[in-house]
Amino acid sequence: MSQWILPTPDCLVITVNNGIFVALINLTHRLSAFVVASRVAVMPEPEKIDEYWMARALTLAARAASLGEVPVGAVVVRDGEELGTGFNAPITGSDPTAHAEICALRDAAARAGNYRLTGATLYVTLEPCTMCVGAIVHSRISRLVYGACEPKSGAVESARRTLDETHLNWQVEVVGGILQDDCSQIISNFFSRRRAEIRQRRQKGSGKE
Ligand SMILES: [Zn+2]
Repeated sequence: MSQWILPTPDCLVITVNNGIFVALINLTHRLSAFVVASRVAVMPEPEKIDEYWMARALTLAARAASLGEVPVGAVVVRDGEELGTGFNAPITGSDPTAHAEICALRDAAARAGNYRLTGATLYVTLEPCTMCVGAIVHSRISRLVYGACEPKSGAVESARRTLDETHLNWQVEVVGGILQDDCSQIISNFFSRRRAEIRQRRQKGSGKE
């Protein structure tokens, strides 16, 4: 039995009861198709592993958008297995710390039964902020992979370079720019839609239509 979810006009997520899901992300007027099968033996080529898990993070970002949250998604992976997932949810959770990365780290630590996640990779669709970089260091994540840069508050390479600060006692390998066009487009589409909705409400309010 299959389940079809349409969280946003940009992303169609199809889940199948054996753990396979297919995400069709129609962004920038083209169709990108990713097949993610986290619990079956179908794995991508080694050089495509980062894209594979970033595609999974994008499906989580789409879930955030469907709840009216800024679409950011994150996945923690260790030894080729999904250990934790999260998406941005500060409004729905009334929680200022509920960024996608923090939610994924909490989920992974709970499942691992250990607040240290040494050897794990965190995939996130947007460059982490200062709070999330701090949490990455506290959780001993070994590798950080992100999609789009965040010019205003990104704390890895944009607004500041927190991981380069010498007082930190943990080194994280960093890779940026994985599926960056898709990761950036899902956010700009979200804000375009939101601006259009606000305009529409104002027009209705003023009786112009
Ligand atoms: Zn953050």
